[in-house]
Amino acid sequence: MQTSRGAVAMAEGEPVQMVEISVPDPGPGEAVVAVQTCGVCHTDLAYRDGGITDEFPFLLGHEAAGIVESVGDGVSNVAVGDFVVLNWRAVCGECRACLRGEPQYCFSTSNAAQKMTLADGTPLTPALGIGAFADRTLVHSGQCTKVNPKARPAAVGLLGCGVMAGLGAAINTGAVTRGQSVAVIGCGGVGAAAIAGAALAGASRIIAVDLEDRKLKWARGLGATHTINSSDGDVVEAIRGLTGGFGADVVIDAVGIPRTWKQAFYARDLAGTLVLVGVPHPEAKVPEIPLLDVFGRGGALKSSWYGDCLPSRDFPMLVDLYQQGRLDLDAFVTEEIGLNDVEGAFMKMHKGDVLRSVVIL
Ligand SMILES: [Zn+2]
Ligand SMILES: [Zn+2]
Repeated sequence: MQTSRGAVAMAEGEPVQMVEISVPDPGPGEAVVAVQTCGVCHTDLAYRDGGITDEFPFLLGHEAAGIVESVGDGVSNVAVGDFVVLNWRAVCGECRACLRGEPQYCFSTSNAAQKMTLADGTPLTPALGIGAFADRTLVHSGQCTKVNPKARPAAVGLLGCGVMAGLGAAINTGAVTRGQSVAVIGCGGVGAAAIAGAALAGASRIIAVDLEDRKLKWARGLGATHTINSSDGDVVEAIRGLTGGFGADVVIDAVGIPRTWKQAFYARDLAGTLVLVGVPHPEAKVPEIPLLDVFGRGGALKSSWYGDCLPSRDFPMLVDLYQQGRLDLDAFVTEEIGLNDVEGAFMKMHKGDVLRSVVIL
């Protein structure tokens, strides 16, 4: 066991506190990782505000890169000293999805069996089973994905959650391919990554939609060919206007509210694909749409969980593309901050001032 510093949400809505935590030595199948960087994600704020579960206290942080410091018995996928990006999809190999050869949908993912605790022994709930706003964290070894150690940790660590969700919404769930038209509604971290994913996949027309010109500018930098400020008028008409009057082949809703989902539904061309990647509020409902429109327009209405990624397949590949200059992960790192600055980063994120603030440990 060792002690570490961690950013912990003690009670609903209260500012996170820097406290001493206890990190057990890794048991069978577990690893302790010396965290180098960890991005600040909306999900961390949602945990703090009680929007996910009420299992306080939470050890926040889950978009992390670091070095494996120690491993427990039976760990073979990583070794001490490996540079890893942490994931929240350590696949089981035994569930229905895994057995049919679709581990990216694994229904029974693993986390560490032991608990990290506060100094007084109170067990912590790590955000998304990771908890990486800390110098050290304990995870299941399957949550460690080895990538090229020459890569910049602050950039590639973001593949651990939001950036992977967006890239995967385009590449995996939307199955965007060369020559297609893609529209992305909402250009925060996830939406901006969806734009980068569409560009990487060879889409020829990439339309970014947001309320803020600043985000539309970021989107252009990541590959958007056209932008629409949604405060200027009807988003569906604007997307149709940029696609020969038809709509886009793939429309990605990176906001996740009924209004944007409905826009995405109607902004598709016939037989087009809608991908929902923004996390909806628990009380949000599917908007009322004539069933005949669902039938008559054809295509697919999909949801993208974590970009339908398989970390062992996608992280090393995307890091290689980053190293080759074909995927600009640096563009997502708006600022590097200290562990004490997490609360300030929540404010900036809430106001839309950043794609990502990244804590450097
Ligand atoms: Zn499984
Ligand atoms: Zn996240």
